[in-house]
Amino acid sequence: MSLNERILQIKKRILAACERSGRNPDSVNIVAVTKFMSLELTRAVLDAGITHVGENRPHIGVPKWEALGGQGTWHFIGSLQSRKVKDVVGKFEYIHSLDRLSLAHELEKRATAAQCKVKAFLQVNVSGEETKHGISPQEAEDFLKHCEELKHVTIVGLMTMAPDVDNPELARPVFRRLRELRDELNCRYVTAQPLTELSMGMSGDFEVAIEEGSSWIRLGSILMEEGEEG
Ligand SMILES: *Cc1c(COP(=O)(O)O)cnc(C)c1O
Repeated sequence: MSLNERILQIKKRILAACERSGRNPDSVNIVAVTKFMSLELTRAVLDAGITHVGENRPHIGVPKWEALGGQGTWHFIGSLQSRKVKDVVGKFEYIHSLDRLSLAHELEKRATAAQCKVKAFLQVNVSGEETKHGISPQEAEDFLKHCEELKHVTIVGLMTMAPDVDNPELARPVFRRLRELRDELNCRYVTAQPLTELSMGMSGDFEVAIEEGSSWIRLGSILMEEGEEG
């Protein structure tokens, strides 16, 4: 299958998941996770009309941005060290991995210096797995209140990583919990602006994530052919 055919298949599956759950397909965005893709394939993905790309390592993602950054909107999706923040701010419009206050402050500092805005997802460790980054659901409210003072960082929503399981149905409770947490926080007016976005779902479970309300699905391997890593 060609890249265009793969994208067409994915879009059909997104449409079907939206139909099943009564959602508007325009409310679901694809972030093409290009972390294992060559520069050429990353460019091909952008040329194929997927305008959001995600990278998880600054030393790989920033050079790609320098080569292709005129195209598309760039998302940083991996755990981010504070000392690397200066490398990504001004290039990556979205950060999906805000998981500590010190990172929020560093983002604010660098965005202020660069006179730009950063949109961030608060990463929540819903499943409670030790190996996963993110704050606990109980900590979200306080965290968001602290972030209200930031002028250059806007928290647009919540992000989570589901457990890596063969059966995507097993990820459903995690996705559902993230949506419920988002809705609870909005009901309590924790932030001045409601949290509208949910970043959840990857190649193996994006349909379930859509059914549970995801607005940003992060797709990597499903866009690639076997042996295409580079
Ligand atoms: C790699 C990665 C993805 C994409 O995973 P696939 O299973 O290849 O679709 C999504 N989100 C994050 C944070 C990742 O690191």
